[in-house]
Amino acid sequence: MKIINSPVQKVNFNTFEIFIKRDDLLHHDFSGNKARKFLYFLEHDFPSIKKVISHGSNQSNAMYSLSVLCRLKKWEFIYYTDHVSGFLAQNPMGNYKNALDNGMRLIQGKCVPEKFEEDTLFIQEGGALKEAEFGIKKLALEIEEFAQTHRLDELEIFLPSGTGTTALFLQKNLPFKVLTCACVGDETYLKKQFELLEKEPMTFPTILNRDKKYHFGKLYKEFYCMYKNLKEQTHIEFDLLYDPLGFIVLQNYLRNNPYKKILYVHQGGILGNVTMLQRYARKSYF
Ligand SMILES: *Cc1c(COP(=O)(O)O)cnc(C)c1O
Repeated sequence: MKIINSPVQKVNFNTFEIFIKRDDLLHHDFSGNKARKFLYFLEHDFPSIKKVISHGSNQSNAMYSLSVLCRLKKWEFIYYTDHVSGFLAQNPMGNYKNALDNGMRLIQGKCVPEKFEEDTLFIQEGGALKEAEFGIKKLALEIEEFAQTHRLDELEIFLPSGTGTTALFLQKNLPFKVLTCACVGDETYLKKQFELLEKEPMTFPTILNRDKKYHFGKLYKEFYCMYKNLKEQTHIEFDLLYDPLGFIVLQNYLRNNPYKKILYVHQGGILGNVTMLQRYARKSYF
């Protein structure tokens, strides 16, 4: 599998000009944030490994990317999740369907094991792991090259965070300011995540505050509207979990700092939109 350098595209959104790093276009099967995080496992040999165990939600982007990795590596993939609704089981779609098609073995409602055999690689929910730095460093290099080519010395990078792993390793490997916002948990949780991942003193990414509390995975009208406006104006599809909040926070920042040059990292996750759009359709926002 050949992983390319993802392209950068300049877009106009509302009154702002923003560069978009299209990590959603890394590869048709292995793209976005989780592809960067798992690149280390794709590009190294693990002769003793025969299976991967992970856990989390049944529509997780990490689950899907791991299923691709395991298919390519010919590893068995076992994934623990709390519950699959009857509806989803009968109408498989999104990350869930695609991961099953890649041979994932799903275990429902059971405790996640805590001790593993030598031939097993355990991946923590969401991919908050040290090895993630390998692929994120490559992303940092691509961004630096782009900035040099276009003489953007004052570029600032923005990306919405879950565990904060990507923002942290980007900041560690870039001379530019990395801005982020908390999508899972609050600002305090995100800062704790940074401290857990990096023991050495370093400048952490700058967390921009949300002006309202949002719960991860819940539906918000302003999220759907942001998604739709983005699609209409930029012709790019963004994800429905992280990007809408990311752009709400970024837009507030740009209103106060209109001359900043921003590169926004599109971290993929589009496969998850099918089920999110169905949930939004039931609320009849469109
Ligand atoms: C996982 C993920 C994130 C969050 O990445 P973290 O490194 O956990 O902060 C953001 N966007 C998408 C699309 C993701 O899949």
